[in-house]
Amino acid sequence: MKNQISEILYKEAIRFLPGGVNSPVRAFGSVGRTPVFIEKAKGSKIYDADGNEYIDYVCSWGPAILGHAQEAVIAEVNKAVRDGLTFGAPTKKEVILAELISQIMPSMEMVRLVSSGTEAVMSAIRTARGFTKKDMIIKFRGCYHGHSDGLLVKAGSGALTQAVPDSAGVPKSYTENTLIAEYNDKSSVQQLFEEYKGKIAAVIVEPVAANMGVVLPEEDFLPFLRNITNENGSLLIFDEVITGFRLGIGGAQEYYKIKPDLTTLGKIVGGGMPIGAYGGRKDIMQMVSPLGPVYQAGTLSGNPVATAAGIKTLEILYENPGLYTEMQLKAIQLADAFAERSKDKKEPIQVNQIGSLICAFFTDYKVKDYNSAVTSDTVKYADYFGKMMDKGIYIAPSQFEAMFVSAAHTEEDIRRTCQVIKDI
Ligand SMILES: *Cc1c(COP(=O)(O)O)cnc(C)c1O
Repeated sequence: MKNQISEILYKEAIRFLPGGVNSPVRAFGSVGRTPVFIEKAKGSKIYDADGNEYIDYVCSWGPAILGHAQEAVIAEVNKAVRDGLTFGAPTKKEVILAELISQIMPSMEMVRLVSSGTEAVMSAIRTARGFTKKDMIIKFRGCYHGHSDGLLVKAGSGALTQAVPDSAGVPKSYTENTLIAEYNDKSSVQQLFEEYKGKIAAVIVEPVAANMGVVLPEEDFLPFLRNITNENGSLLIFDEVITGFRLGIGGAQEYYKIKPDLTTLGKIVGGGMPIGAYGGRKDIMQMVSPLGPVYQAGTLSGNPVATAAGIKTLEILYENPGLYTEMQLKAIQLADAFAERSKDKKEPIQVNQIGSLICAFFTDYKVKDYNSAVTSDTVKYADYFGKMMDKGIYIAPSQFEAMFVSAAHTEEDIRRTCQVIKDI
C-alpha cells in the first residue's frame, strides 16, 4: 500500500501542529504507525491522499451514520451555505432542530444548541450545579465526557478517592469536585453518596460506555442510577454524544427506558458538522441564561449550516427506522466473524456489540468495566489494526474505541470485512 503522500504531509504537519494532528487519537500513537491523511469520503468508503480506498468503520467517530457525503444532507448544506454562514442571531432552523430533538427524545423538553460534545457536557454540568446548588459530580472510570477541566479525570487511587487530573494544566482544585465510581458497580456509587451526603449535584454516565471500547450496562445498573439520584436530590445526566440517534433513534434512554434529567448530544446531531446540544427537564433548563442565572453562550451556536446538516440527518433517521435493524444485523455479522476468528485461531477475543456499535477486545476476561477493558492486549490490537489497514479496512487506531457501522455499509462491504477479520 502506497503512503508517500501521507508521509510527506505528516512531516509537514508535525512542524506546525502538535503531533501533526488536531485531536490526539488521530496520530496513530498507540498502534505505532504514521497517520494516513484523508482526502475525501463517500458512502462507506474513505480515501487517503495516496489514493488508497478503505471501508470506513470510524465514521468520523460516529457522526457519519448515514455514510459519508450523503446526497440529501449535502444538498441541504449547499442550500444553507448560499444563504450565509453565520448570523449570530436566531434562525428558524434552530427552532426546527430543537423541536425535532425534543420530539425524538421527550425527556429533552428544552434544548440549548452548542458547537461540540465537550461544550454540551460542561454546560449540562454547570446547569445541574446551578439547579441543585450542589458542587460535586460522580463520573465513571473509563467514561469520556469531552476535554473540559473538571471531567479530565478517570482514575483516582481506587474508587473512593478524590480524583486527580489526567492532564497537565488542570489545577487540582478543578477536579476536586469530581468523584470517580466504577462502571457497572453499584456499591461504588452507593458509597460515594453515603460519604458525600447532600453534596452531589449529578451523576454523569455514558449509558453505553463507548470510549473504553464498547461496554454495556448490566441490567439493573441504569435503573439503579435513576433511583439513587432521585432519592438524593441529585440529577442524572446521560451523555448520549455517541449513543444518541445511534442505539435507535431515541438513543439509550429509549432503548433502556430510563428518563434522565439532562441529556448531552453531539456527533450524529450535527450530521457531520460541529454541533452539540444539551437539554432536559424544563424546570432545570429554565436555569439557563437568559431565563435563569446559569450563564452559557456561543458565537457560532446554532450555526445555520450545521443545523441544516443536523436536521436532514435526523429526519432521514426518523423516517427510516428500518435502518437501525439493518445496521444491527451488519454489526452482528461482524461480531460473529470475530467470534469465529477467536475459535479458529484459539485467540482470546471478547466481542461487545449493541446496535451498530462493536468492539473486539483481545482478552480472556469478560469486559464490563474499565479494569476488565484494560486487560486487553494492545500489542495484539496494534498488529490487527495494521493488517486491517493494509487490507483496506479503516478501523480506530486504538483498542479503546468503538467500530461504527453505518447505513451506507453494503452487504459486500460486510462480507469482505468478515473475510479479512478471519484471514489476517
Ligand atoms: C466524543 C464525545 C464527547 C466529546 O465531544 P466532542 O464533540 O469531541 O467535544 C463527549 N462525550 C462522549 C460520550 C463522546 O463520545
